[in-house]
Amino acid sequence: MHEMSIAQSLLQMAEDEMTRSGCTRLEKIWVTLGAICGVEPESLKVCFDILVRDTAYAEAKLHIIKLPLRLRCSSCGNIFGGEGQDALWMPCPACGEQLGHVVEQGRELLLNRLEAR
Ligand SMILES: [Zn+2]
Repeated sequence: MHEMSIAQSLLQMAEDEMTRSGCTRLEKIWVTLGAICGVEPESLKVCFDILVRDTAYAEAKLHIIKLPLRLRCSSCGNIFGGEGQDALWMPCPACGEQLGHVVEQGRELLLNRLEAR
């Protein structure tokens, strides 16, 4: 599963960070997901829980920060938002241009922050 490998790399990043700062207990981890980053937030949570079960990180909680899609019209420069992948093809609310919108926000997939002791 796609989300499983992402959960694995997030956990790996958290482990690296904890090693650097001398922490052993992972408590919370915040991940930023853009609306069209291709990761299903609920499956990512499920995968994360499966991964940490019966490990030293069993108590760790994954928090997901969802970023809506923001597009910039290539024709008039108007910035507008949308719900998901489909919004890429909707006409600009200002000028009606349908093609070539630039994704300003929505592809993010980041380990935002973690809390560990
Ligand atoms: Zn426009």
